[in-house]
Amino acid sequence: MTRVSLYRCAEYDKHVLFDVFVKALDDAGFRADGFRGARVAIKPNMLSASAPEKAVVTHPVFFAAAVRMVKAHGGVPVLVESPAFQSLEKVALKTGYDRIIAEERMEVWDNKSVAVITNDQGRKFKRFEVAKPLMEADILLNLPKIKTHAITCLTCAVKNLFGTIPGLAKSQWHMRAQTREEFPEFILDFYGAIKALFNNGRRVLHLVDGIIGMEGEGPGPAGTPRRLDMVLAGTDAVAVDRVVAHLTGLDVAKIATIGSAAQRGLGVGKLEDIEIAGQAIEAMAVQNFKAPGRSFSSRIQDGLLGFNAVKNLCVEKPVPSAERCTLCYQCKSICPAGAIHKSEGTQRVPRYDYNACIRCYCCLEICPEAAISLEKGKLQWILDRL
Ligand code: SF4
Ligand code: SF4
Repeated sequence: MTRVSLYRCAEYDKHVLFDVFVKALDDAGFRADGFRGARVAIKPNMLSASAPEKAVVTHPVFFAAAVRMVKAHGGVPVLVESPAFQSLEKVALKTGYDRIIAEERMEVWDNKSVAVITNDQGRKFKRFEVAKPLMEADILLNLPKIKTHAITCLTCAVKNLFGTIPGLAKSQWHMRAQTREEFPEFILDFYGAIKALFNNGRRVLHLVDGIIGMEGEGPGPAGTPRRLDMVLAGTDAVAVDRVVAHLTGLDVAKIATIGSAAQRGLGVGKLEDIEIAGQAIEAMAVQNFKAPGRSFSSRIQDGLLGFNAVKNLCVEKPVPSAERCTLCYQCKSICPAGAIHKSEGTQRVPRYDYNACIRCYCCLEICPEAAISLEKGKLQWILDRL
């Protein structure tokens, strides 16, 4: 039986969090003195340059407390993160990570040095380029934030590790694993490679920022910050995500990174097989947490994505709003399908080619103005009812 610890925590206070982390990890089976002499790769969620209160990134104070804890117990932290599109420097500046990095004089992955890891058991993908510091780390300390996600429904412990793949290579993976079935399976192939890398005494630990999470149209600025007042810890990412799904009331059947992960033996996906330490789980349940708005059956959608006419009628498309768009073209830069073009004439938004669009929603995730929303296809209303 695996253990996940759950603590109530309502504030981003470095000292409070330090104590909560030590206790929560201890409950989850890892004593903090295990950091002694260890090289610790720390992976927060730094999706994009966004103020911490928007809840797009792992809160900088959460990150600062984790760095302190590692150093106070004799470990050597290194920041391993590759934002979706912008440079790490830019994201660090906007989110306040830059001050922590400077204060702690911590090493930061340069986003360039990469290494190849493999997963012989991968169902479709077996070879991945990742941040090189992972190869040298004794411990990978994952600091995800609880957020909704347009494709995977939830992004938390499993999905956050995707950010150890460098820069725009991440959006290329959307091209290789285009459908809503393929992408989570790719994430699991990749997670399997991470698990295989961290064996033989090397550890992966998960500390979840659930103090202020995100609901609705996450995981980017279009989502809505939501106070959840919780911190979770565990050594099994799948079990951690399973507990988060229960706490938020998200439909586990829609989170492939739980069900399929458990089937593959990558972690524990059944709540009854997870021991909860700390707070009672029912006492921490969140009421009326808003799932991402996409209700249409993913199976039907996946079958239709190859047919442009049907796709455009039946699958939500990303639509930029002229009222919010600043024509920064970050969406254009990240689009793996080359489906976004410069505006023409008096048009005040980028031009979208919906036939080329693979509906990966990277543009929605990255738009700094939350200017992109999902618009249902005309037939979708009917098919939704079916
Ligand atoms: S839609 Fe968003 S990302 Fe794209 S150009 Fe407009 S503001 Fe920039
Ligand atoms: S237009 Fe947006 S949703 Fe479509 S492929 Fe490009 S990034 Fe993905």
